[in-house]
Amino acid sequence: MNSIQKQKGLLIGLGIGLIVIAVLLASFGGYLTARGAVDLGSAAGIVKLVFGILMLVGFFPAIMGGIKFIWVGYSLVATMGSIKQGNIAKDGGTVNMKKCDKCGTELKDGQTECPECGKKFEA
Ligand SMILES: [Zn+2]
Repeated sequence: MNSIQKQKGLLIGLGIGLIVIAVLLASFGGYLTARGAVDLGSAAGIVKLVFGILMLVGFFPAIMGGIKFIWVGYSLVATMGSIKQGNIAKDGGTVNMKKCDKCGTELKDGQTECPECGKKFEA
């Protein structure tokens, strides 16, 4: 298992954890809000209602964070795929470099002449 796979596992694990927390927040928040609303005459009822609403509000960042972590985790696999295909240039920058169609030498952006065989290209 390489480091990218570990990071992917960690991110997806965190994402699933956050979604579980979001679901728990929604369930308990909904329950407390309903119980608090029934019992609004007492201090305990108001406390339940406030905590219930806070938990319902917390549901949104938790579910968004969970989806984001899972998304980033899966994006890492796509990055790993393009490394495998050799699309990363030697300087670590440009993807899908152009090659001279005569000798196969890699060409930098804007080069109008192959440095190896001298073949000319349109800019
Ligand atoms: Zn060439």
